[in-house]
Amino acid sequence: MQLKEALEVLEQIAFFLELKGENVFKINAFNNAVRNLSKYDVSLEEAFEKNIIQNTKGVGKTIQNVLEELLKKGNSSLLKELESEFPEGILKLTQIRGLGAKKIKKLYEELGISSIDELEQACIENKLLKIQGFGEKTQNSLLENIKKIKDYQGKILLHYADEIAQSVLDEAKKSGIKKIEITGSLRLRSTVISNLEFLISEEKSIDKFLQHFKAKKVETNIYQSEYKGVSLKFFVSKEEFFNYELFRTTGTDNFLKRVKFHEINQKTFKSEHQIFETLKLPYIPPQARENDSLEIREYDFPELKDLKGLIHIHSNYSDGSNTIKEIVEFAQKNNYEYVLICDHSKSAFYANGLDEIRLREQWEEIDNLNSQSKKVKILKGIECDILPDGSLDFDDKILRQFDCVIASIHSKFKMTKDEMTKRISSALKNKFVKILGHPTGRLLLSRDAYPLDLNEIINVASQEGKSIELNCNPHRLDLDWEFHQKAKSKGIKITISPDAHSFEDMSYVKFGIDMAIKGGLEKSDIVNCMNTEEFLKKFCNK
Ligand SMILES: [Zn+2]
Ligand SMILES: [Zn+2]
Repeated sequence: MQLKEALEVLEQIAFFLELKGENVFKINAFNNAVRNLSKYDVSLEEAFEKNIIQNTKGVGKTIQNVLEELLKKGNSSLLKELESEFPEGILKLTQIRGLGAKKIKKLYEELGISSIDELEQACIENKLLKIQGFGEKTQNSLLENIKKIKDYQGKILLHYADEIAQSVLDEAKKSGIKKIEITGSLRLRSTVISNLEFLISEEKSIDKFLQHFKAKKVETNIYQSEYKGVSLKFFVSKEEFFNYELFRTTGTDNFLKRVKFHEINQKTFKSEHQIFETLKLPYIPPQARENDSLEIREYDFPELKDLKGLIHIHSNYSDGSNTIKEIVEFAQKNNYEYVLICDHSKSAFYANGLDEIRLREQWEEIDNLNSQSKKVKILKGIECDILPDGSLDFDDKILRQFDCVIASIHSKFKMTKDEMTKRISSALKNKFVKILGHPTGRLLLSRDAYPLDLNEIINVASQEGKSIELNCNPHRLDLDWEFHQKAKSKGIKITISPDAHSFEDMSYVKFGIDMAIKGGLEKSDIVNCMNTEEFLKKFCNK
């Protein structure tokens, strides 16, 4: 079990304690432990071995006991006991944005609401208005959020899908399966996944493996199951047809049609490359097979190793967890040539945004570090808030002193399409702004993009010679790949940035590479495939 999964259990315990009306100190103890442990990306076993749990502030005996039980048995008797005191499904109410334990307690005690369906019904019947603290506005936004949850049910984000897929692959290894591959939408690297699909070659050990997941036969050689709330599908293939089946199950149906896959009259291939050769076509990687508007030709797609610059990195000056020195060490270890540190600007007070005084402290530290090491060049950047009127959070006197400015929206999302388009356009017209950060503000499976004429934004960015970010946080993946060709055709360069707040987030660039390939972007379309010199020449203020 990963430490993160164990922390979810602690959160659930805190939720039920609150529902029971237990004392605040007891509840806070659980919440504090979660907060203090959440920065560690390790397994639960490692967390004990490395004394992380024993040495972390606020992790007392009771919590240690829960974690030990999770390690040994895989579940918590305390959680089970608490769960048994409430109706099943009440925990699911925590998935609704804007509903915390306190509000759920009220809804449960005063209206007996213990499921999402019951809450939806109560909202429709205007019942929430009788409860103190719930107005019409809350009721409407709850209804809207319930609708989203229902739309999103069973769908998960790419990073989480990868995690679950890995545990399925681990189980396959344990069961002695020799040949298994991820296929379907996860292999295509779709932004949102609703089915995890695997291809297994026919062999003795598959029965044991399929039994482990309680998979049921749904068609000849197709088995289905559910695991951690996600649907799993297993295709079983004769070993000699494995590559043919991998190509076929990866899809998409449209891609198979476009390449005339059905005209192939043999099923035995050494590799997918050989299938493309037979079709007399260049190899197209799975990511790009989802994009029907891409021409089928050779592409100079980027790879992780082509990224020379780490752009849009938050340090502990604002809401990142690492010092600049640690970030530079990371960059050096991972062969990056330059790092653009971009902390939040002063309006982002909730994220500890920098004012002019703290900015100067940061610049001084960067100058010092740059004078000590020449291997990685640290560049002075900022993720500058675009204010509601389209002006920027710093005046030009400050802005001109940065090596590069990313401008993003973090507040006042509720504007008309026209207002929002004008707001962003006017920020792009500031000559010190070089990159537009997470252009639509969407959070996949959670928040829609703000109303925006994205085509117009692309036009303005093109006229002004600005780059648009491909924010690689798997919750964002914004600019969406469907707009990459449009941006490319207008000569816009895309910046692949992890928007990292920790070392763990740095690896998000891999999702950016997937999306860039899906969008049909090539190395020459990517800002951070440029070396330090080129980047400074094209995107720096100095
Ligand atoms: Zn941001
Ligand atoms: Zn950011």
